Amino acid sequence: MLGLYLHVPFCAAICNYCTFNRGLFDAGLKTQYLEALEREIRLAGEGSPADTIYFGGGTPSLLAPADVAGLLLACRDAFAVSRDVEITLEANPETVTAARLAGYREAGVTRVSFGVQSFRDEELRRLSRLHSADCARTAVTEARVAGFDNISLDLMMWLPEQRLDQWLDSIDALVAVGPEHASLYLLELYPNAPLKEDMARAGWSQAPDADAADMYLEGLRRLDDAGYRQYEISNVSRPGRECRHNLKYWQDGEWLGFGCGAHSTRANARWKNVASTDDYIERMRAGRPTASERRELSPQVHLEEALFTGLRLAEGLDLAAILKRYGVDVLARYGPAPEPFVEMGLLIYHADHLALTRRGMLLSNEVFGVFIDASVR
Ligand code: SF4
Repeated sequence: MLGLYLHVPFCAAICNYCTFNRGLFDAGLKTQYLEALEREIRLAGEGSPADTIYFGGGTPSLLAPADVAGLLLACRDAFAVSRDVEITLEANPETVTAARLAGYREAGVTRVSFGVQSFRDEELRRLSRLHSADCARTAVTEARVAGFDNISLDLMMWLPEQRLDQWLDSIDALVAVGPEHASLYLLELYPNAPLKEDMARAGWSQAPDADAADMYLEGLRRLDDAGYRQYEISNVSRPGRECRHNLKYWQDGEWLGFGCGAHSTRANARWKNVASTDDYIERMRAGRPTASERRELSPQVHLEEALFTGLRLAEGLDLAAILKRYGVDVLARYGPAPEPFVEMGLLIYHADHLALTRRGMLLSNEVFGVFIDASVR
């Protein structure tokens, strides 16, 4: 079944480390954007079955519940949305109230994913986030009261001035709050990030690389102890509460993305909408295509992508499924190339699966390189 991704490119303020496709919220622009988004959904729909919908951003919780309800109605009109659909909405803690969360629930949202990033106020301030740790706790409590029984929290590690103990404080605070799901990301400092200047000015540093590895491994160990199960490099959940939408990205599934900058993958093709909000609205108004890049996936590229994304999963690559779908025996095709990583303890074979170990997850890009077979492209 298809996953549907809806991009909401608006934020109340721009965080100093952010590379996402977003801009400042503007009520007039939002109205125009929602019209365009709804039109794109309705035009794309041909009744195909869909079982996940994901509002990503930006900050989707800047949309009013009625906006979300309108978009969901368009999805239901245009696609055969299954009865047990998972509908996720990303939310920033400072944007929600009890009433707003109840409104999302009423609109049909089943899962809320809060961008918490840290439970330490000084770390949040360094990231120029608008919320505090208490604000995040309150948002989760209000989401529970509104009836959400599927909540995810994002945390970021390797923050300026953060050391292992401080990172583990945030992990402990997350466990105390008790979400069903958590995503752990490593802060990536892109070259022109304003955060880089802030760090230089204030003399903030990141911990050494080896400490970042410890943060990852120790954080996951604490989550193991608390009963969470790691199912992907950056994601853990209570059993059965994996994000069904994101699993489509890692399990070689198909999805349609709507809105500026959204990606789609379907029927051996991949395409991406124009990134600019204005350009996207303009094109939808003029009836011009919104996709700026489209490429057909050759069988080899499709296979490679299935290998990379499948290896991100803790259960690893299902070698029998790859053979069935692509007619490729991975072990025969890549021969002894993965062996050095097996010997180093970064890759492991188990029950017809090839999987990264946790240490292998830290070095996943090096391991993925084994499966790029330029000669057969
Ligand atoms: S709220 Fe999220 S999308 Fe918006 S600027 Fe901050 S990090 Fe980027």
